[in-house]
Amino acid sequence: MADPAECTIKVMCRFRPLNSSEVTRGDKYIPKFQGEDSVVIGGKPYVFDRVFQSNTSQEQVYTACAQQIVKDVLGGYNGTIFAYGQTSSGKTHTMEGNLHDTDGMGIIPRIVQDIFNYIYSMDENLEFHIKVSYFEIYLDKIRDLLDGECGGCFKPHGCTERFVSSPEEVMDTIDEGKSNRHVAVTNMNEHSSRSHSIFLINVKQENTQTEQKLSGKLYLVDLAGSEKVSKTGAEGAVLDEAKNINKSLSSLGNVISALAEGSAYVPYRDSKMTRILQDSLGGNCRTTIVICCSPSSYNEAESKSTLMFGQRAK
Ligand code: ADP
Ligand code: MG
Repeated sequence: MADPAECTIKVMCRFRPLNSSEVTRGDKYIPKFQGEDSVVIGGKPYVFDRVFQSNTSQEQVYTACAQQIVKDVLGGYNGTIFAYGQTSSGKTHTMEGNLHDTDGMGIIPRIVQDIFNYIYSMDENLEFHIKVSYFEIYLDKIRDLLDGECGGCFKPHGCTERFVSSPEEVMDTIDEGKSNRHVAVTNMNEHSSRSHSIFLINVKQENTQTEQKLSGKLYLVDLAGSEKVSKTGAEGAVLDEAKNINKSLSSLGNVISALAEGSAYVPYRDSKMTRILQDSLGGNCRTTIVICCSPSSYNEAESKSTLMFGQRAK
């Protein structure tokens, strides 16, 4: 169990490798790593709880970012893990990765495995009820990804809660949500960069002898791309989208920095996402933000702005 006095917001930073189009363009690899917690860009050091270099494995990222939160959620705490960064910086790779490959699995499938391994290891007096929801927030509206009937329509009220009893069932549920998401949009890459996707795992346990109950939930959030949309060129719907994303990411930043500073006032009500996450942020809750960056000189300005977002949360 975590020490309650321990700081409950952790900020991690992950750099992916240069990709082939960056290499082809002749981009430089710009981050300089110092120890386990610091990276220098443009002469300026940025310090986090941990910094992951480009060759860090999915397993190493999981162990450092999520393993303790999973223990805490099984101990009755709530938690949230966010991936933040510009489009193509590695957010989905970090949160989901390859759902069906042992080495390639990201944080979510590893969490699911750990939760079920824990359940299988406990004695029979403990009864577990695990349910998951999967939805996205687009233009401050919620789309339930597990309601195939509704075909990706927006839902003002509660999303589907699916009871699950094995890791395989959870992976199938994620695949189902992803295919519903595909059906609802024409260009998936563009869409996923403009919406926040949220996977919620709810764990309830009851000791059938003592009737003691515990309940914890964990939000796993793959945020919309944080890149600035150039002011010239963007208009109409695209500009509205861009403004909405900026607003929701900056209100998330405001909430996290208010929590990190221990402010009396935390502006949860400023966006849909922070309202939804309210009972899993701050207080007794465990929060981890994984700041995702491209290492390329071409993306230096965006990487700096991403690193600054992460620094505000510390
Ligand atoms: P985002 O979700 O931030 O838009 P993705 O996670 O989709 O970005 O990553 C973009 C591409 O880079 C994907 O093809 C992904 O597999 C690859 N990638 C991202 N992070 C890494 C990494 N740490 N190691 C190897 N490949 C990565
Ligand atoms: Mg993505």
